[in-house]
Amino acid sequence: MLNIVLFGPPGAGKGTQSAKLIEKYHLVHLSTGDIFRANIKSATELGVLAKSYIDKGQLVPDEVTIGMLAGEVNKNPDAKGFIFDGFPRTQAQAKALDELLASKGTSITMMLALEVEEEELRKRLLLRGKDSGRADDQDPAVIQKRIDVYNGETMPVKEFYQLQNKYKGIDGIGEIEAIFNALCAEIDK
Ligand code: ADP
Repeated sequence: MLNIVLFGPPGAGKGTQSAKLIEKYHLVHLSTGDIFRANIKSATELGVLAKSYIDKGQLVPDEVTIGMLAGEVNKNPDAKGFIFDGFPRTQAQAKALDELLASKGTSITMMLALEVEEEELRKRLLLRGKDSGRADDQDPAVIQKRIDVYNGETMPVKEFYQLQNKYKGIDGIGEIEAIFNALCAEIDK
């Protein structure tokens, strides 16, 4: 299986590149942010809970997120591979993902990390907030909180994969197509 963790701060372009990667490599795309938003839209119990964290720019608690992600993986027994987008975001999630995949006789192939500096992220998120309607992209304080949470809680996940020699950093600034080609070059190496 080809199992990719697509990593990067909020606004790095993970969603855009995931859409292109799944088409080329026939992978199942699991975006925890998208799944939470779908649950919020249909007002499920999970959605109501997730919204209370997302609106504040905080992470949804690990046990909730891990349980949901495991359920989604289990729904796709015939997948050729997965792109994990927005997951894992904490060390506990990274460990849980390793254990889940090991129990299925597979593992993470690599972490592809889109590297974009903070000033550019703030610009992109505010721009996205204008047309996506995402409330968490419209409030500069919530955006800053997400960037801070990323720097504090999510950055250690990079080390987790570096220790396994699976971390590949990609420059996330430039043309969408050029960034896509750089990602594909890493995958095809
Ligand atoms: P972005 O990467 O732009 O912040 P996402 O769509 O990935 O957006 O996530 C939106 C929100 O959903 C996050 O700010 C967080 O509250 C919640 N979320 C998404 N993925 C996770 C996760 N793995 N663990 C905890 N919370 C998450």
